[in-house]
Amino acid sequence: MQYPEPIAKLIDSFTKLPGIGIKTATRLAFHVIDMPEEDVTSFAQALISAKRDLRFCSICGNLTETDPCEICLDTSRDQTTVLVVEDVKDLMAIENTGEYHGLYHVLHGVLSPLAGKGPDDINIESLVTRLQKNAAITEVIVATNANAEGEATAMYLSRLLKPAGIKVSRLATGLAVGSDIDYADEITLIKAVEGRTAL
Ligand SMILES: [Zn+2]
Repeated sequence: MQYPEPIAKLIDSFTKLPGIGIKTATRLAFHVIDMPEEDVTSFAQALISAKRDLRFCSICGNLTETDPCEICLDTSRDQTTVLVVEDVKDLMAIENTGEYHGLYHVLHGVLSPLAGKGPDDINIESLVTRLQKNAAITEVIVATNANAEGEATAMYLSRLLKPAGIKVSRLATGLAVGSDIDYADEITLIKAVEGRTAL
């Protein structure tokens, strides 16, 4: 016997999320059926709005409702430093420490030869263009995660940007090898930014 179509469709939708198998999807679908209707409506609207009302900032790659994003438009921020992160979650983690006041650049990934991801597959070209156009930027802090791919990406950026006279540094102190920026606690992140080392 098959489930009625509406719930079969809902189960199928949940299985499209990462880490959700058919069993969990079925449990979630039945949970939705038990939820108050207004909660379901607001959940559905949040899903649609997250997709429809958000875009990536054309300057830094941050997730934003307006382009350029708030951070890029904020002239009170330090315009000489750009901190490079793998994804928007890492940007949020560092921004939430309240200790970094410069600009950001979101790569949307890291170099990964094994996964066939090269420089053209992540947001590197826009960083180079940005630095060429904007002479005020003198330092790039590479805050990729402390694993092999994050290190490889940092080294690549260092070799690419240093000849142009840009100071390239790397978050190091306090971040354990293999650790993810967005899971690090605030104190560790603050120390990592302060204790950055030149590449
Ligand atoms: Zn931006």
